[in-house]
Amino acid sequence: MKKIIIIKYGELTTKKDNINFFITTLKDNIKNCLVDYETEIKYDKGRMFIYANEDNLDVAIEKIKKTFGIHEINIGYEIDDNSIENIKKSLIELIKDRDITSFKIVTKRSDKKYPINSMEISRQMGGIVLKNKEKAEVDVHNPKMVINIEVRLNNKVYIYFDKIKGIGGYPVGVAGKGLLMLSGGIDSPVAGYLALKRGVRIEAIYFESPPHTSDAAKNKVISLAKKLSEYSGYVKLHVINFTAIQEAILKNCPHEYLVTIMRRMMYRISERIAKKNNCKVLINGESIGQVASQTLTSMAAINCVTKLPVIRPVACLDKLDIIEIAKNIDTYETSILPFEDCCTIFVPDHPVINPTEESASEYEKSFDFENLISDAVYNENIIKVENKICEEHSSIL
Ligand code: ATP
Ligand code: MG
Repeated sequence: MKKIIIIKYGELTTKKDNINFFITTLKDNIKNCLVDYETEIKYDKGRMFIYANEDNLDVAIEKIKKTFGIHEINIGYEIDDNSIENIKKSLIELIKDRDITSFKIVTKRSDKKYPINSMEISRQMGGIVLKNKEKAEVDVHNPKMVINIEVRLNNKVYIYFDKIKGIGGYPVGVAGKGLLMLSGGIDSPVAGYLALKRGVRIEAIYFESPPHTSDAAKNKVISLAKKLSEYSGYVKLHVINFTAIQEAILKNCPHEYLVTIMRRMMYRISERIAKKNNCKVLINGESIGQVASQTLTSMAAINCVTKLPVIRPVACLDKLDIIEIAKNIDTYETSILPFEDCCTIFVPDHPVINPTEESASEYEKSFDFENLISDAVYNENIIKVENKICEEHSSIL
């Protein structure tokens, strides 16, 4: 009898045509997150089975809890000899040290050729529990313990008691890749997390303006990318030096349009980095109405510089809801560290609330921004942020 981890896929079982791709992506993602532990992974269409050294099972589960595409995680026992006598013997062994009061047996028989049907297996195993545990009583409606028995096609039987809720979503990567505009704030890491949850692998882009913004501000963004990498294994972070562009905007454009034009430049650069890296969409933390640059008119005047779809996962969430997610994924405390962002240092007293695309384009003609944009893209700095437990610093690619 081997103690193993059993995984149920949940939502992805509804994807008929793509199911193999979904499952193999999930397997690769799990394999990557368990790379430091010797594990073997087997799977069929309904379940994935993870074999690891028993001492590593707990830490493996902590990692798997952060893997998208999983509905339920069970610590189970694999039995090679599927004869009914052997199942009974194994069950007696497994319940020996467990406290059992009210219980129910749930049997699933995917091997339809197995000579005994599910009802009968449940009945016989229920009898075993009643005989061996003094306080045990059957309660099919509201049992304190559910004992699951699965007779599967691979001639093996699995018994498990406890279930852990998986994080859900789709395996990261099945939906392709997107470029997350990652600032040090609260919203964009949450946006990244939600995109990952839908199976989008993310790369991230961060605009810095040294010396107006500090290394501390950049390190904060790296820490946030590292938090996100717990859900995706790694995040490739593109750091863009934005100083020359911001200074040129400040010098040449009307102040009430500073933010609009600055954000249009960010979108243009993001689009180029996205295309270079095969990212199909831009993702950001804009939320309708939160600040002047996030009114619908403002978003329209900014968004029109790119043809790429822009996904805004938190667009319709209240700030309090965004904060709740940020706390759950443990990015909140980092996000509220008080370091300046390139957006905040050039904020005019009275930003325009209803900017127009025409005016923005007109003002942009006052300076040749194209050269600066190309330079910024060319001189990007790439940091591969990895989810390694013992690693203190991220490696530069
Ligand atoms: P956040 O809390 O994510 O910083 P915010 O409410 O402060 O968002 P803005 O500063 O207007 O809003 O930015 C809106 C979005 O633009 C951010 O969520 C992020 O996706 C992107 N963004 C802003 N500043 C940067 C930056 N320096 N680098 C990369 N992306 C940025
Ligand atoms: Mg911000």
